[in-house]
Amino acid sequence: MDLTTDVRYLKGVGEKKAKLFYKLGLFTIGDLLTYFPRSYEDRSSIKKIHELEPDTSVCIEGCLVSAPRLTQVRQQLSIIRFQVSDGTDLLDVTCFNQPWLKNKLETGVKYVFFGKVTGNLIRREMVNPSIEPSDSPPRLTRRIKSIYRLRAGISQQMLSDTIEQCLRIVGDNIPDPLPESVKQKHQLAHARFAYENIHIPSSGYALETARRRLIFEELFILTLGLRLMRSAGTASGPDIKVPALDDFMRQLPFELTSAQERAIRDIFSDMSSGRSMNRLIQGDVGSGKTIVAAAAAWASVSNGYQCALMAPTEILATQHFEELEPLFGKFGFRTALLTGSMSAKQKREVKELIKSGFYHLIIGTHALITEDTEYSNLGLVITDEQHRFGVRQRAALTAKGEVPHTLVMSATPIPRTLALIMYGDLDVSVIDELPPGRKRVNTYAVDESKRDRIYNFIRRLVAEGRQVFIVCPLVEDPEGLDDGRKAVEAYTKQLSEEIFPDLRIGFVHGKLRQSDKDAVMKSFVEGKIDILVSTTVIEVGINVPNASLMIVENAERFGLSQLHQLRGRVGRGKHESYCILISDSKNEATLSRLSIMTNTNDGFVISEEDLKLRGPGDFFGDRQHGIPKLKIADLADNADTLREAAYAALELLNDDPELTSPENMKLRKAVFEMIDQFRS
Ligand code: ADP
Ligand code: MG
Repeated sequence: MDLTTDVRYLKGVGEKKAKLFYKLGLFTIGDLLTYFPRSYEDRSSIKKIHELEPDTSVCIEGCLVSAPRLTQVRQQLSIIRFQVSDGTDLLDVTCFNQPWLKNKLETGVKYVFFGKVTGNLIRREMVNPSIEPSDSPPRLTRRIKSIYRLRAGISQQMLSDTIEQCLRIVGDNIPDPLPESVKQKHQLAHARFAYENIHIPSSGYALETARRRLIFEELFILTLGLRLMRSAGTASGPDIKVPALDDFMRQLPFELTSAQERAIRDIFSDMSSGRSMNRLIQGDVGSGKTIVAAAAAWASVSNGYQCALMAPTEILATQHFEELEPLFGKFGFRTALLTGSMSAKQKREVKELIKSGFYHLIIGTHALITEDTEYSNLGLVITDEQHRFGVRQRAALTAKGEVPHTLVMSATPIPRTLALIMYGDLDVSVIDELPPGRKRVNTYAVDESKRDRIYNFIRRLVAEGRQVFIVCPLVEDPEGLDDGRKAVEAYTKQLSEEIFPDLRIGFVHGKLRQSDKDAVMKSFVEGKIDILVSTTVIEVGINVPNASLMIVENAERFGLSQLHQLRGRVGRGKHESYCILISDSKNEATLSRLSIMTNTNDGFVISEEDLKLRGPGDFFGDRQHGIPKLKIADLADNADTLREAAYAALELLNDDPELTSPENMKLRKAVFEMIDQFRS
């Protein structure tokens, strides 16, 4: 028997029980060993009866003072009662529906009972405690007990017995993928110890040691896997001869910043390396990522390859099209826009022309590009605002061409450690410089008392010809929940009827039909709306240079990175711009969070602060998809171990880039098993 042995061969399992295990995803001994407890119950301390406090769960050790009394109440209900003494006091014990206990429990024998103490300080009681003789090995009592996630038909005891059996069978043959040197350097327990103590902790300290080792191992292997995928994934890519960047720059209305130029050089050198590019461009809002993408696209189409540019929303796709179509026209290249609102006939026609190779640059939302669009010669895939896309979607698209180059653009600055996991399969260029003359957005955090002044300010800016965003946390007024949170529709009504009856006000939120959303956004972009009230649907990438004021209602409800994204919607033109964060919160933490926004415009500083204040959960959120399901580590909770494991992985790869040295063979095997999960 070994790790791959089917669970049905285990003692006490058999065909029928095995099926229940299969339903939990437990097919082999190996699966059982890595089925880690959901939580633990500390049953290790034994208390004296006279010191028991109601509502605590503890062990007591004592003898029955009289034989158990059985009462058969009904056919389905029996009750056993008895009293236990440990020399300090008496404890009443009641057991439901366990009539066999009557003959099993003897007076004069010492037992240990674990259960929750009820009653009061005069009469203490335990109902249905776990019971075992004092001279038996600790199983149900006197230890830290693992609690597993279950399914009907399998009990805690059944599962932990079976796992104990597996531990006995495998014994010292538990494979340990971590090289000795890594274990020593990071003070990690051996595999055998870790697996034993994660399931059957011998003490709280042993459990922590076991847990740390297993979390480290999982994150270490994950990081290694992402890194290896990145170098292995780069099979051969389309061969791009680097064109003279000057030819491209001559057609631009501005000079590139040196950060932009650096990013473009990174891209060119990737694309001409013969291997396929996998690069992330990270740049703060407004740092000018679009033109970097355009340069990459231009290099690709200049070499006779098509380029696909995916945007997360239709508006954004349209904006990219409007900006890039004329630019590419100057070079004699044709640009297509493919969006959901086009008629079926239009789409069919455009797709035909893409397939025939007529179009060079194809811009659209991701659904359209990923579904059934065929290319004649796809050389480069660019995804904008990539945090909306998962690794899988990216992979789906990459699967379209042979192995096209991929470029990913993100405006969400991510602290470096997290980037190692989230983008571990990508090379990264950072645009850490804003175009010249960009003014910082004047940011204020205020409370309700300033509302009249804010409304006057809106009026003044609109009179000067500017436009205004107002962002609210909710879509509709939640019924019967008047906690002052602003809801988009009700607030729009109030603004247009009572406050600004003379101004043009529109609203968007995620519950509107896509076509309605797009229509409103389009009017705003065209300057036909003065004030746009919305939820965070406008958070991503939209460019309205004439908008110079962003107001965020109930600002306490937004994360720092999100506020920073929202603020990035203004300050994109030549006008002095403002961001007003309104919050009536008196909470210290909230206020200091908002004051970070008023102190800096730097997205990286803000993301580091966000990480410190709220942990990494927000960065991952629903973006965790695309990473294989983790068995024990939690990216949000285990930030410190993540950092340590990620850097240890980089260090190891420095010495042994392909993990081919003999002491890393087991590790290599584990890493490739992990990589397989990405692909399934
Ligand atoms: P983001 O990085 O947020 O996607 P954009 O690419 O939309 O930023 O650029 C924001 C604005 O800055 C656009 O109007 C763009 O034309 C302008 N821009 C980009 N690069 C430069 C530059 N080097 N000099 C001046 N303006 C620039
Ligand atoms: Mg952008």
